Amino acid sequence: MNYKATRDFALSLDRNDGLSKYRNQFHIPLQKNGKEHIYFCGNSLGLQPKKTKEFIDQEINDWATLGVEGHLNAKNPWLPYHESLSQSYANIVGSKKSEVVAMNTLTVNLHLMMVSFYRPTSKRYKIVIEADAFPSDTYAVESQIKFHGFSLEKSLIKIKPRAGESALRTEDIIDVINKEGDEISLIMLGGVNYYTGQVFDFEEITKSAHSKAILVGFDLAHAVGNIKLELHNWHVDFAVWCSYKYLNSGPGSVGGAFIHEKHHNSDMPRFSGWWGHNKEDRFDMPDNFNPIKSAEGWQLSNPPILSLAAIRASLSFFEEVGMQKLVAKSKGLNKYFLYLLNSIDSDRIEIITPKNSGCQISIKVINGNKDLFEKITNEGVIADWREPDVIRVAPVPLYNSYLDLYGFYKILKQLL
Ligand SMILES: *Cc1c(COP(=O)(O)O)cnc(C)c1O
Repeated sequence: MNYKATRDFALSLDRNDGLSKYRNQFHIPLQKNGKEHIYFCGNSLGLQPKKTKEFIDQEINDWATLGVEGHLNAKNPWLPYHESLSQSYANIVGSKKSEVVAMNTLTVNLHLMMVSFYRPTSKRYKIVIEADAFPSDTYAVESQIKFHGFSLEKSLIKIKPRAGESALRTEDIIDVINKEGDEISLIMLGGVNYYTGQVFDFEEITKSAHSKAILVGFDLAHAVGNIKLELHNWHVDFAVWCSYKYLNSGPGSVGGAFIHEKHHNSDMPRFSGWWGHNKEDRFDMPDNFNPIKSAEGWQLSNPPILSLAAIRASLSFFEEVGMQKLVAKSKGLNKYFLYLLNSIDSDRIEIITPKNSGCQISIKVINGNKDLFEKITNEGVIADWREPDVIRVAPVPLYNSYLDLYGFYKILKQLL
């Protein structure tokens, strides 16, 4: 397509966009002057679907009128409420329904998964992560290593990009697996790196790791609802995610986990709670824990229904549209965005996100001057700044428009 950096051209792309009608179904934050913000922070906190309130009100009202009876008699009974999210989650992460569960929050799930999947021995005790992993992931992994009595110096392998490069090369990850594989217990990577937006080669990394009997987990915080996933077919061992980023389910909303079915009947250790117990006799309050033979067996507590209601509202869009169309639009946005950004003739910015990534574009500001970020914020853009020198912008296919891209381009071009 012959792109043009004009408002009319952006509008014509919006007119041809089959998903443009969804924007109107979200609350777009307004500036002081009453104009809509250019909201590029869906990778941090997705916007609120207008229907979310109705979904939460339903549960609030059922609680008011039914009290405890809502567990069985609410319009959407609370007892099995979390199960109603599983098929949508399975479609989003590419798994069987039995392999996913909505529970807890991301870092909590990461710990619970490591309780099961990181079982270091004196010979095999190392964990591999990205050097620039999200801090919470690093803290979680480090504390697990220490919890098992191992030293960080010997047990934590942080893989760095090559000098002068921003993204990790798959071959460099595989190189570590080949060299140190016999001592590695677990590889834990962000499916999409939060800083650079790089998408990892799930399949290749998992295959290589499994050939050395290493288990593999992914943190999907920036991947879920953003890129096409096939966790089951890629044989990933486990994955965890949050629902408030690309999944638009509200601040701090309940997260999710994927556990490959090959592990459902294993006797691996886990931290257990009553909600993971076999549903047939859970309420007989038996003494012995007998786990549900699915991802649900890793649940601890009965989940917060108001949060699940918000997830349900948002996932209904994902059901309606499907990841395929979302990803197709995301690629369309991405392509036009890169065209616009690359047409700005400036040596003050550099795009560090590799080609063919997801929604997010990370723009490195040369010399790390935060001034530029503050100025675009003043002009009505909501994006974010990550130290030391990156502006992250994430146009998302459900509610961002091509006009948003053009608006951002115009602001940035003027400032540069
Ligand atoms: C957003 C994010 C988190 C946040 O963790 P919570 O437990 O939900 O607070 C963790 N890891 C990554 C990679 C993230 O992007």
